[in-house]
Amino acid sequence: MVQRIVVRSFGGPEVLELEEVDLKRPGPGEVRVRHTAIGLNYIDVYLRTGLYPPADGLPFTPGFEAAGVVEEVGEGVSWLRPGQRVAYGTGPAGAYAEARVMPAAVLIPIPDDIDDRTAAAMMLKGMTARYLLKQTYAVKPGETILVHAAAGGVGLILCQWAKHLGARVLGTVGSPEKAEIARAHGCDHVILYREEDVVKRVRELTDGEGVPVVYDGVGRATFMSSLDCLKPRGLLVSFGNASGAVEAFNLGLLAQKGSLYVTRPTLFHYVASRAELEANARDVIEVVRQGAVKIEIHQTFPLARAADAHRALEARSTTGATVLMP
Ligand code: NDP
Repeated sequence: MVQRIVVRSFGGPEVLELEEVDLKRPGPGEVRVRHTAIGLNYIDVYLRTGLYPPADGLPFTPGFEAAGVVEEVGEGVSWLRPGQRVAYGTGPAGAYAEARVMPAAVLIPIPDDIDDRTAAAMMLKGMTARYLLKQTYAVKPGETILVHAAAGGVGLILCQWAKHLGARVLGTVGSPEKAEIARAHGCDHVILYREEDVVKRVRELTDGEGVPVVYDGVGRATFMSSLDCLKPRGLLVSFGNASGAVEAFNLGLLAQKGSLYVTRPTLFHYVASRAELEANARDVIEVVRQGAVKIEIHQTFPLARAADAHRALEARSTTGATVLMP
C-alpha cells in the first residue's frame, strides 16, 4: 500500500485528502518510482481549484514534479534499471504520492552530486526558467529584463539564470524580506510593488526606454502594468496566473503601447519531444552543477500536510522552492 493525496472535488486546500492505494505493476513503457521528494508548484493550485482541468478529470492526484528511485521497469524500458535515481517535471499529474507507476519517457536520470530534494525542486521550475530565457525570448548579455515574483520558486531561478546569461535583472517582490532574497540571487534592482510604482521605477531604471521583455507569472494583477514596462516591440511573456487568470483585453492596446507582443507559453509545448526534454533538462542540470543557479528550498512539508503547503504558497508566504516529503 502507498499513501497519496487525492482531490475528489475542486476547492480550497482542504480538498487535498490522504488515501491509501495498491499500486499496479508497471505496464509496457512504464516504471514504478518510489518518491524521495516532491516539488510544489503553482500549477498544483490551478488543478486543485479547477482553473486548469485535470487531464483525466476527478478524482486525481496532483503534482507534476518529483525525484525518486526506480523500483521496477515495465516491458520495453531498457534504459532505466531498478535502483536508479530519477526526477521529472512534466507530470503527468500524480506526484503527490509515496510511489507511483508512470511513463518512463518523462524521466531524467539524476547525477550523484545532485541531492533528492534539489532534484525534486529543479525540474519543472528549472526547465521553465530555461525555455523562458532561451527560447520564448533569447536573453542577451547587457539587456535589462523584468521578472515578477522575483523571490518565488521560478523567480529565483529566472533571476540567477538571467544574470548568468549576462543580463541586468529588475525584479518585483511583495516584501523587504523577499527583496533581500532576490538581491542575493542575481536581481540587480528590486522593486517593492506595494511601496513603489513599478512602471515609473522601470522607466527610471532604463532611462525612460522600458525593457525588451517582461516575465510575468502573476497574471491578472500585473498584466496591464507589465505592458507599460515594455519598450516598443517588446514582448510580454505571461506565463502564469498566481493572482488570477488574465482577462480579455483589446488587441488594439498592443499597437497603442508600442507594437507590443504577448505570448502565453507553457512548458509542455517546449519539451514535447524526448530530444527537447533531454536538451532542456541537461542544461538545467549543468547550471545547477556549475553553481550558476542554486536551487533554494526554503520550505519543507510532510506529504500528508500538502494542504498547509498550498495555504502557504497561496498566502504568498513562501520564497524559493517548496518540497513535500513522502
Ligand atoms: P511562486 O513561488 O512564484 O509563488 C507565487 C508568487 O507570486 C507569490 O509568492 C507572490 O510573490 C506572487 N503573487 C503575486 N500576487 C499573488 C497573488 N494574488 N496570490 C498569490 N501569489 C501572488 O510560484 P511558482 O514558482 O510555483 O510559480 C510562479 C508562476 O509561474 C506561477 O504563475 C506558475 O503558474 C507559473 N509557471 C508557469 C509555467 C509555464 O510553463 N507557463 C511553468 C511553471 C510555473 P510576491 O509576494 O513577491 O508578490
